[in-house]
Amino acid sequence: MFEIMIGGDFAAAHKLRNYKGKCEALHGHNYKVWIKVSAPRLDKRGLVVDFKDLKQILKSVILELDHAYLNELTFFKKHNPTSEVIAKYIFDKIAGQLKKTYPHLTLAEVEVWETDKACAIYRKR
Ligand SMILES: [Zn+2]
Repeated sequence: MFEIMIGGDFAAAHKLRNYKGKCEALHGHNYKVWIKVSAPRLDKRGLVVDFKDLKQILKSVILELDHAYLNELTFFKKHNPTSEVIAKYIFDKIAGQLKKTYPHLTLAEVEVWETDKACAIYRKR
């Protein structure tokens, strides 16, 4: 099994609902996102997938989160914009795009780093 990872970042504001503490107030993060994709074999070029193609997919998904107030986006009106939920949101969007374009690839996991020391991971079981 081969795996590759690609990183990206976005800046966004949020406030947590049903939470008592600092994070119930409006604040922002410079989020870092890492996605891991796996493939049982390499293509003719010896690649899982071209880094730049995967980067493009990640970019298209995080573009709508960048400089947004997450609580105002349709999805996060219903789901609390925690790093865990953001990771699942990004996972589902990217998995959908990969399925269409690269059906032989598996999205293994998505990491969302809220700070340098705090990260949430959503992965395929
Ligand atoms: Zn926060």
